[in-house]
Amino acid sequence: MDDLSHILFSLGEDRDNYFRSVAPPVIQTSNFAFSSVASIRSAFKDEYSTFLYSRGKNPTVDILCKKLAALDGAEDALVVNSGAAAIFLSVVSQVKSGDHIISVKEPYSWARHLFDQILPKWGITCTYVDGRDIANFEAASKPNTTLIYLESPNSWDFAIQDLSAVARFAKSKGIITICDNSYCTPIYQQPISLGIDLSIQSATKYISGHSDVVAGVIAGSSALIEPMFRSEYMCVGSGIQPFNAWLLLRGIRTLETRLERSSKSAQKVMEFLKEHPLVEEVFYPLDPSFAQYSIAKAQMKEAGGLFSFTLKLNQIDKIEFFINSLKSFLLAVSWGGYESLVMPKCAGIEKHEFNPLNKQYRMVRLYVGMEDPTYLINDLNSAFLAVQDLS
Ligand SMILES: *Cc1c(COP(=O)(O)O)cnc(C)c1O
Repeated sequence: MDDLSHILFSLGEDRDNYFRSVAPPVIQTSNFAFSSVASIRSAFKDEYSTFLYSRGKNPTVDILCKKLAALDGAEDALVVNSGAAAIFLSVVSQVKSGDHIISVKEPYSWARHLFDQILPKWGITCTYVDGRDIANFEAASKPNTTLIYLESPNSWDFAIQDLSAVARFAKSKGIITICDNSYCTPIYQQPISLGIDLSIQSATKYISGHSDVVAGVIAGSSALIEPMFRSEYMCVGSGIQPFNAWLLLRGIRTLETRLERSSKSAQKVMEFLKEHPLVEEVFYPLDPSFAQYSIAKAQMKEAGGLFSFTLKLNQIDKIEFFINSLKSFLLAVSWGGYESLVMPKCAGIEKHEFNPLNKQYRMVRLYVGMEDPTYLINDLNSAFLAVQDLS
């Protein structure tokens, strides 16, 4: 990888082109004017390398693509209007009618929707495997398997795949691999250097970092990205808009610093939770108690600020009371912003479905943002005291 500081602060920026302004300009334009028929005619021939129309290339977006490609150690990158669009485009560009996909079980919900509801319309089937064991990929592979879809770690239970091993197997069979790397970002894990073909992210999370943009990234070799740009990307027209690209450029300036803060604070909050009598278990990939700690340590530089734990509370009302008592954690989806968040798994079920024997229902996910960890620990402590007072 290029020097990280160079990527974050300088790569792709050409200040001589915009009055030496330190911050890059928002080139908020739909189209670009040409001085002659001959020059627009040659632009029509190659939208990949020309600014012609902002559904294709745009200068502000271009700076962002260069930085994100370099961060991933990739030749090229596309930035789209959501992480879901990154999933959709990367997958749809790599499969054809009759193909078979192997996916990790419980991938991001809209990846699952794509595999279960949309691709079957073209006779494309999907087998879900427990990605923690490479043997499961080998066993699920068929002659028509063309794509393996990974998400490592998973953003709820943090299940991990051995990315090098899966990539090696896939290459031996001519199968394309995609990895959702939203949890780590390329700063903490580099799927491409481990042999994965396409690294995708929800840029809504850490890249934006301020809970104000929805966006997604696809990074890979020019051989994969350029045809994707010329076909699916241009056709779906979901490229990021210049102002949102500019907000992501602003987020990138502090990406390394925010990640470090979030990660370190999460570990402090987790240490508090591990000792608490109402906590059964914590799930954090780089905690030595984590079942896949050794593979996490081998392929991830650090873990992020997102982790989960199970509560020793056997009634859904008590779990809800605990969550409702938190004042410093916002109850909201997503993560990767400045603000700390909480999400109980039981928010996704009807109350009557709750069964304390199903550990998943007692699971709570925390995202630790930029706040002082002591401030967050005090809040958790008060909520625990409030729920203990109930009985
Ligand atoms: C949020 C998320 C996505 C989807 O990203 P959007 O930007 O919300 O479309 C995909 N994968 C993971 C792991 C996510 O957390």
